[in-house]
Amino acid sequence: MEYQIKCVGVLTSGGDSPAMNAAIRAVVRAAISNGIRCKGIYRGYQGLIDGEVKELTSHDVSGIISRGGTILKSARCAEFRNPEGRKKAFETLQKEGIDALVVIGGDGTFTGARALALEYNVPIIGLPGTIDNDLWGTDMTIGYDTSLNTIMDCVDKLKDTATSHERVFLVEVMGRDAGFLTLNAAIAVGAEAAIIPEREAIAEQIEAAIGQGRRKSKNSAIILVQEHAIEGGAPAVAKLLEETHPEYNCRCTILGHLQRGGSPTAQDRILASRMGIAAIQALLEEQRSIMIGIQNDSIVYVPLAKAINEKKDVKTDKWDAMQILSI
Ligand code: ATP
Repeated sequence: MEYQIKCVGVLTSGGDSPAMNAAIRAVVRAAISNGIRCKGIYRGYQGLIDGEVKELTSHDVSGIISRGGTILKSARCAEFRNPEGRKKAFETLQKEGIDALVVIGGDGTFTGARALALEYNVPIIGLPGTIDNDLWGTDMTIGYDTSLNTIMDCVDKLKDTATSHERVFLVEVMGRDAGFLTLNAAIAVGAEAAIIPEREAIAEQIEAAIGQGRRKSKNSAIILVQEHAIEGGAPAVAKLLEETHPEYNCRCTILGHLQRGGSPTAQDRILASRMGIAAIQALLEEQRSIMIGIQNDSIVYVPLAKAINEKKDVKTDKWDAMQILSI
């Protein structure tokens, strides 16, 4: 018997990222244009458990492409980690007549999606929505480009004051376990150094950064520090620096949640729109448990298991660029 999807649910989960709204809009409109109803699930997996569901029309997603955040709200949900929580979630799907799900989030969201798919045989498609760009199988994640541009704008401003006051600025950047935001932002702002988890030599990096500045008779420096590259983040690096180089006038800036907000860039809006449409297309092709990725500007299907378990590496030439350009 032919399997036909009549109603798809969409949710955003985990850390929010710019252009999640553009992705929701694309999922809703692509579903409707294929004769599939679309229901929005509020507050991620928590809303799925609690039955916070509302049918979305094309009009409901009007005017959101330029807005940061997510109209569906996002949440972390401990209950969904347990089989009992996922049973309640499945009961909501049954009650609402939702026969497939599109989940927009990061690796935690996909891990939860896989568990639900395995236990209840629900067709699920993941869209990579995270500023961290840490998912394997896709060149970019939704929100990464906007976040990178936000970081660049902030650090450009810090650079002005760092130069005027001859200070060393340690700027802490988000990224969970990944250094993509930090390294790419460091190249974009012309930082003296990037301290990222993928490269071990923390002490050597700091020394090198100081040395580079000195050779250029520079009295100011910008060092980007990935939040988990060193215990204690940017303040810990500042402390280390001041111990070894008391002559340095250090200041720390933690960019924090500023990095998650704002109107998405054109690149993110386009990416999210393409991926949202691709999610519905994949369901029509009877794909299951895959993430929509982008590789060389083409849409690809990546098994959720691979997207979660494989490690995406920082590009060596980018790391090298950082060293070459800071001499
Ligand atoms: P980001 O990387 O942007 O923070 P994320 O999707 O990785 O996004 P998490 O908080 O790790 O964010 O995960 C979101 C939600 O997914 C969790 O609150 C939880 O409900 C569910 N989840 C995470 N890990 C699991 C797991 N191992 N089993 C079941 N559900 C999980």
